[in-house]
Order: sequence, then structure tokens, then C-alpha cells
Amino acid sequence: MTSFAFFQRLSKSFQDHPSHLKLILLCTTVTGGGLLAYSDAASSEVPVTEKKKVVVLGTGWAGTSFLKNLNNPRYEVQVVSPRNYFAFTPLLPSVTCGTVEARSIVEPVRNIAKKDFSSFSSEQKEVDVLFSEAECVKIDAENRKIYCRSNMNNNLNGKEEFVVDYDYLIIAVGANVNTFNTPGVVENCHFLKEVEDAQKIRRTVIDCFERANLPNLSEEEKKRILHFAIVGGGPTGVEFAASLHDFVNEDMIRLYPGIKDLVKITLLEAGDHILSMFDKRITAFAEDKFQRDGIDVKTGSMVVKVTDKEISTKELKNGGEIKTIPYGMAVWSTGIGTRPFIKDFMAQIGQEDIAAIFKKADKNNSGTLTVKEFQEAMNDICERYPQLELYLKNNQMRGIADLLKEAKGDVKKESIELNIEELKTALSKVDSQMKFLPATAQVASQQGTYLAKCFNRMEECEKNPEGPLRFRGEGRHRFKPFRYKHLGQFAPLGGEQTAAQLPGDWVSIGHSSQWLWYSVYASKQVSWRTRALVVTDWTRRFIFGRDSSRI
Ligand code: FAD
Repeated sequence: MTSFAFFQRLSKSFQDHPSHLKLILLCTTVTGGGLLAYSDAASSEVPVTEKKKVVVLGTGWAGTSFLKNLNNPRYEVQVVSPRNYFAFTPLLPSVTCGTVEARSIVEPVRNIAKKDFSSFSSEQKEVDVLFSEAECVKIDAENRKIYCRSNMNNNLNGKEEFVVDYDYLIIAVGANVNTFNTPGVVENCHFLKEVEDAQKIRRTVIDCFERANLPNLSEEEKKRILHFAIVGGGPTGVEFAASLHDFVNEDMIRLYPGIKDLVKITLLEAGDHILSMFDKRITAFAEDKFQRDGIDVKTGSMVVKVTDKEISTKELKNGGEIKTIPYGMAVWSTGIGTRPFIKDFMAQIGQEDIAAIFKKADKNNSGTLTVKEFQEAMNDICERYPQLELYLKNNQMRGIADLLKEAKGDVKKESIELNIEELKTALSKVDSQMKFLPATAQVASQQGTYLAKCFNRMEECEKNPEGPLRFRGEGRHRFKPFRYKHLGQFAPLGGEQTAAQLPGDWVSIGHSSQWLWYSVYASKQVSWRTRALVVTDWTRRFIFGRDSSRI
């Protein structure tokens, strides 16, 4: 990301671009999983009778939590998404091995919208929600239109493409899998992103066992077929490896005694450790546990090519030596990237120049900023971008003026003045090290709720803006910026053991955390129906084990 990309992307387009008046945008597609921004151009009073059209793209965590929390009858809502259901993604690894059934973790979006809106007062029941099963392929921000395409090829006679107008657009389309353009990945690897992916993985695992059990196969060929390679040692790859290990050892080995010694699970990670985003104690425990379980964790191993039968890796700890590993099934789980139409949209809305911030801060129009002016500008930036405050805290900086040390000498002297280039230097270090919010369901869901609350209070905040100062234009933004509240994270490690990292860096690993995991994930289900189904699936698995039929 180029210098100032953070400030550029976050500030610019949503502030004063004429075509983005009243555009409120939630975009959970950008790197760390959450970019929340809004435009605050002054808006005229709109009679309640004249409904504004809100178009929501996506029925994932962010889109659904927006829908659940919106209760302002001033809006009519149209949801556009290629899937007509919400999926509880944290349980996808459980679906890959049949611990939980696919239908237990999904809820039709029409149920979510209907149920939630009908629980409001009679006036609020008038919030209309329409759903179209299609994907957005292009956003025309200038004319406030989106171009959509139905992915059902069922004789729509050319009517599969349509255009939808909007007053406000909520972008909650999540992210793409990122293959880093590694040759052969798309053709030969499984991904674990959607419910269909999890179902396909489950079938393929069982398929591998059946194929390896056929007569006339050499021992070597059987070993290859029963070698499961997982690329990426992040939370998804680790949880899948653990689930697969449990499935194989608790269920499959019993049913396929002749080939049980040939099964191998390998986890390939380019970095030095798996679960590197977790506390070091969790990383160490996970690595030890996997070693004890016989899961081969290869760190410093970067996958450079995948063919139908072999994975080539570059051994970073071994002078870049290229190795090939035969495999039967590979799952690619190395991270996420921005969807192409969102990249196109971001290019359309442009980038902010730092000049707007500089101009606003330079109160006496001298062309330079005094330390005091810089301090005041940074206070406003901090209010608008709470991540900056976090950065300063993490880097143990006493105050914002510490940033100046990098840009210019001794900050204690009041006489020091900063020109625009030096302001850029001061901010560029922050920008290069600023961490985006993690790409988690927790972040996306909180963002959706935040945005719904903004819409619910739109009229009130238009009259009495409560947000930070505008760098372009006059006055304040309408809403306080989004602040993420971290509630902790889990890493299930198999064998009924889970690692939990809770707020305050409290770490708990073992069987007790597994029970905490069960209770949190049961309570976070989107409906009572899915909650009941998931709990029933867990109970069924405890009593009867997992089903190994290849259907
Ligand atoms: P998504 O939930 O991905 O939803 C995106 C929506 O947009 C979907 O409905 C999609 O169909 C739709 N869409 C896509 N393209 C278009 C288009 N062109 N037009 C219209 N709609 C479109 N997070 C946690 O916090 N804890 C966990 O334990 C956890 N485990 C995970 C396990 C797995 C296997 C995976 C894959 C993810 C996990 N996550 C977890 C991450 C979490 O799922 C994501 O961070 C979260 O789903 C992001 O929410 P979102 O709303 O931005 O996107």
C-alpha cells in the first residue's frame, strides 16, 4: 500500500465528492477485513413519507447485522446477493468433516429480514425489504446505480442483467480467496470460504478413503491419495487440520482399518510459526499438540506451484530449495483479497490528498504548521480514525507530537514548523505500520450494527452532528466513527481442546475453553432454529460419531 493510503482511502471520497452525497459505505473487503467510512455532505430535510432507498450488497456477517438492526421506517431496503442465505462461517470447518451439517449453519435471508422487522411497532413495520439473488458486477457511484447479474442460467432470455438505483449503498461483499497467482491453485486446490466449499471438501475426503481402498493400487499410490495437504497456518487452516485429524482418527480409521497407517496430514506455512496472529503461548501449544497428534507442520515452506498430484514448495529455511510433495487432496487457505469490482469502485472514487488535512490545520494560512497546529490536526485525525490512537498506544508514544520526531528534529521547541512534505513524512510511518481491523466475523458484524444505528439516528445526527471535524468543507461529520470492541478469539485445536485469547490478553487453552467455544458459538447463532440444529448435531456426533457416507 502506498504512503498515506490509509488516510487517502478513508478520508477522501466520502467527504466532499459531489456524487457521493449521502453515500454511506460499509466495505468489509479491504485487507484487514474492515474499512468503514461515510460521507457527510450536508443534506436537506426529507419528509418521512419520501422513503430513501438503501441497497445492501451481501448477506454475510456485515450485511445481515445491518438488516437485523435497521429499524428506521424512512428507508426501503433492497438486498442484492448471490446467495439467499446467511452462513455462520466459523462452523464451516465443522461442516467439512460432518461434525455439523451444512443446513444447520445457514438461515434464509428472507427469514432474517421478515422476523426482525415484524417485531417492531406498526410504523416501523413499514420498512420494506426486497431481496434479489444476483451479484453486483459494477458500481456507478456518479449516477448512484449498481449493475447486477443473476447467476441462475435458467432461460431468463437475456433478462439476467439489471440495474438498481440507490440513495445509499451498503457494500458488505466480504472478500475473495487470495491465491497470490500461484500456478495451479485454482485448478487443483479446494478453498474453504463458502458452504459449498465445505460440502465439497467433505465429499473429497471420503472419496480419497474409498479410492485408496480399491484393489490393485500400489502402496505408494495409496499413500499419495491419503495425503491431505493444507496450505496456510492461519486460524482457518489450523482449525481444518484439527477437524480433519479428529474425523480421521475418531471415525474413518475404524471403518478403513486396512489403510489407517497410510493417512498423513501436512500443514504448510510460509512463515516461521502457525497461528502467528495469536498469543505466543497459543502458537507454541498448537505446534506441540499437532506434533504429538502426528500432523506434520512444515513452517518456512512456501507453496510455489500445484499440479494435480504434486505440490512444489520453496523451503525458505533451506536456502530456497524447491521440494515436491505428492498429495491426494489440497486445501488452500492463505488469506483473502479485495474483489475485482470493489477495486474498480475504489479507483473510481479516487484518493485523497493530504493537502486537505494540511489546509485545515494551517489556521493562519502561513504554509507551515506549528507544533500546536499539528497537535490540533492530529487530535481531529485521531477522533476520526481511532486506529491511529491505538497505533500511538502500541508504540508507546507519549503523545501525537512524538510523531514529529521522525519528521523533524526536536519537537519540544515550539518554534519548529512543518511544511506539507514533513507532514507527509510524519504520517507515512503511521500509515505503513497501521494495522487494519482483523478480517473476522466479529468486526464485520459490529460494523453492520454500527451502520444500522447510524441510519436509525440519521435525522437526529443531521440536525446535531456528533462526529469529528471535517477536513474538507465546514462543520462536523454526522456520526462518531466506528470503534471496534474486541471480545476475544478462539482457535479450536482438535481433541476437544480449544485455545481462547480473551480481552486483556487472557489466554486459556484446553478442554474448558472447548466448552466455552461450544457455548459462545451456540449463543451467537442467528436464529433459534439454527441454534437448535447445531446443538443437536454436536449431540449426535458425541453419541454416534460422524457420518462417512459420500453423498
Ligand atoms: P461475508 O460473510 O463473506 O459475506 C459476503 C456476502 O457478500 C456474501 O453473502 C456473498 O454472497 C456476498 N457477495 C459476494 N460478492 C457479491 C457481489 N458481487 N454482489 C453482491 N453480493 C456479493 N471470523 C470470526 O470472527 N471467527 C471465526 O471463528 C471465523 N472462522 C472462519 C472460518 C472460515 C472457514 C472462514 C472462511 C471465515 C471465518 N471467519 C471467522 C471470518 C469471517 O467469516 C469473515 O470475516 C466474515 O464472514 C466477513 O463478513 P462479511 O460480511 O464482510 O463477508
